[in-house]
Amino acid sequence: MGQKDQATQIEEAAAMIAAARDMVVFTGAGVSTESGIPDFRSPGGLWSRFDPDDFTIEKFLYSAQTRRKQWHILLSGGLLQEAEPNAAHHAIAELEKLGKLSCVVTQNIDNLHQKAGSSPQRVFELHGTLQRLICLDCHAGFPLETILARHGGSADMPACETCGGLLKPDVIFFGEALPQQALNEALHYAGLCGLLLVVGSSLLVYPAASIPQFAREAGAKLLIVNRTPTPYDGAADLVIHGSAGEVMTGILKALKRRMV
Ligand code: NAD
Ligand code: ZN
Repeated sequence: MGQKDQATQIEEAAAMIAAARDMVVFTGAGVSTESGIPDFRSPGGLWSRFDPDDFTIEKFLYSAQTRRKQWHILLSGGLLQEAEPNAAHHAIAELEKLGKLSCVVTQNIDNLHQKAGSSPQRVFELHGTLQRLICLDCHAGFPLETILARHGGSADMPACETCGGLLKPDVIFFGEALPQQALNEALHYAGLCGLLLVVGSSLLVYPAASIPQFAREAGAKLLIVNRTPTPYDGAADLVIHGSAGEVMTGILKALKRRMV
């Protein structure tokens, strides 16, 4: 797609956002690739470095070796390597400051929306967060930072400090249900929004990917910003195939011009 076409699409997107009430932004791994965190499915993505089996809840429960691997991922900086938010996260945080956003619903576990300045109480993390560990027995939560500070020298995943139970990164492994409260909040706001903006998601992972469709069926307009096509492109009011950082920066600029 030519430069001029994309500039026109960006203007159209800004007009949609200017006219919309209570917009919801829905993000996936693609919003964070420009921060240096690979997505799952692109070439060189996470599934070319890790075995998906080590991210199933069954294996985590029954294999000490899998738990050790997970602990070593956390020790080595997680999947995140001290990543910083990029232009797309900053643009989304700014949309909130402009009063255009009711919430961010994210599939990401990297905390980058909050780091960019999105209000934590307006970010719903459908797949949990890597910033916390949770005890599978007593459900106590521990900040990753605290656990690393106290047990950084341990060769194995430490036990819960309260009850001695198994600690697990507070992210959704394959085979686990989504956190009910985050899902309820996401559905609530998606059902009320006038516009749902998808940024950087293949829209292939369920049930998270059903949220844009849910919003659409409840009457919202749908705007998709993603590098590659998604199964929902045909249902969208506007699709921009491009880089999240560049496109979101462009949309924000065009929106601000309209708001003065
Ligand atoms: P995905 O890997 O299935 O798809 C990412 C999409 O983003 C792809 O369609 C790709 O074309 C697009 N993309 C990549 N870089 C982009 C960019 N710079 N600009 C615009 N588009 C870009 O990711 P998903 O849909 O989020 O779902 C997969 C799962 O991956 C989720 O469950 C999520 O929890 C998890 N995940 C999270 C992180 C993270 O926290 N940063 C990283 C990897 C995977
Ligand atoms: Zn416990």
